[in-house]
Amino acid sequence: MNKKPDEYLITREKNVYEVVIGLEVHAQVLSNSKLFSSSPTKFGAEPNTQVSLVDAAFPGMLPVINEYCIKQAVKTGIGLKAKINNRSVFDRKNYFYADLPQGYQISQYKHPIVGEGIVILDMPYGQREIGIERLHLEQDAGKSIHDVDPQSTLVDLNRSGVALMEIVSKPDLRSLDEVNAYIKKLRSIMRYLGTCDGNMQEGSLRADVNVSVKKKGTKNLGTRCEIKNVNSIKFMQMAINYEANRQVDLIEDGKKIDQETRLFDTKKNETRSMRSKEDAHDYRYFPDPDLLPLELKNDFIEKIKSEIPELPDEKKKRFIDKFNLSSYEANILVSDKETSEYFEKVIKNSDVKLSTNWITGELFALLNENDLAITQSPISAENLSKLINLIKDGIISGKIAKTVFELMASGDKDPQKIVKEKSLEQESDPKALESIIDKVISENPDKVKEYKSGKEKLFGFFVGQVMKASDGKANPKLVNDILKKKL
Ligand code: ADP
Ligand code: MG
Repeated sequence: MNKKPDEYLITREKNVYEVVIGLEVHAQVLSNSKLFSSSPTKFGAEPNTQVSLVDAAFPGMLPVINEYCIKQAVKTGIGLKAKINNRSVFDRKNYFYADLPQGYQISQYKHPIVGEGIVILDMPYGQREIGIERLHLEQDAGKSIHDVDPQSTLVDLNRSGVALMEIVSKPDLRSLDEVNAYIKKLRSIMRYLGTCDGNMQEGSLRADVNVSVKKKGTKNLGTRCEIKNVNSIKFMQMAINYEANRQVDLIEDGKKIDQETRLFDTKKNETRSMRSKEDAHDYRYFPDPDLLPLELKNDFIEKIKSEIPELPDEKKKRFIDKFNLSSYEANILVSDKETSEYFEKVIKNSDVKLSTNWITGELFALLNENDLAITQSPISAENLSKLINLIKDGIISGKIAKTVFELMASGDKDPQKIVKEKSLEQESDPKALESIIDKVISENPDKVKEYKSGKEKLFGFFVGQVMKASDGKANPKLVNDILKKKL
């Protein structure tokens, strides 16, 4: 089942290197309030308007665990087919920074809430299983703003205390395409679950990217570098690309890789050292004395399990088994929850094959062109279903349907009404078709002669002429039948 990947290989004169990648994804928990306080978490609020005394770390304030955030983490763990730990511990990770008023971040360290799991990627070369090491809960820090006041740094604590899930993968990823597929799959799972909105522009999903290289075919992993806080798939790919080549160049020069933390400069397209392993922070983790270990009863976990909706992998399987879709079609339709819902609405009353083609073809093209999400589609599932039935019932041809589709997109919503008003019904009366066909035949005696003497390719020419003469409305199947007889 776990296919061998198409590896990202880097070739120098004599040597070929494989690139190895592991991701630590920080996903903001979808929750109206923070992990240890009741402050709101809305994106884009005025600075420092969503800050309680707990988030600002006033002396004597005590954190209180938000049960909803715990449920969200458990849900996500189940979505990652992972082990949920009955006991987890919140530690203090100590460091000083202006946007961290507590002087420490509360984070799970040795005892995370979720253990090992798996994410399945559908790659062109087959399915790949990417291991999940763990998922732990932690609080976000505030935000330092360096570019508003030339004299000083400003601090916005709105984000301080917001719940994050850190999802740590095993070093199983082997190419830029796999990184792309992995992030999209994680996002898809969390959006199905409603545990993270996956909005990368708003910073709800960002990743620390770990990269190492090794000579092709060797077993041991090379020394890794970690690139901090990358906030788009494209930047992750650019950073990996740069970093892997940097490491290969060092090895080719006979130097060794230092394990270090680096940052990615998106303007210069390069990674730069922030700190090396030697001067790595000693965070002095210790259990937060204000928080008891978190004990989850099996009932609590089972109840959440029973509420998990159908997830992309299961939905894909159902679409293939029940509707006979190809794996490729099913993937496209399930990757986004809203798309899968739209599809299921359309096929409730319409032919599956036609619906699949129209959604993945015309509809997706229309949405792409206008940069719309499926929830903003100008054509509702109900109306697309009606259009498909007009084709299926032979009332309009597939070609005319494209015209109707365009009219629907530009405001005339109801396809039945459009077809009536513009009298676009397909001509299926054999008598009427015969008279058009007779006319085409009598107007093209030379072509008829050629056809009869064996130039069968000309059949298409006659069909074309009939379609043209009927303004595209002739029923193609009938035209074919009658033409064959007459010729
Ligand atoms: P740290 O606290 O140092 O960041 P973590 O355990 O949180 O360590 O994360 C380590 C990450 O590095 C994981 O995502 C893991 O898959 C990845 N990783 C470990 N070794 C390698 C390696 N040799 N090459 C690439 N990635 C690696
Ligand atoms: Mg880490």
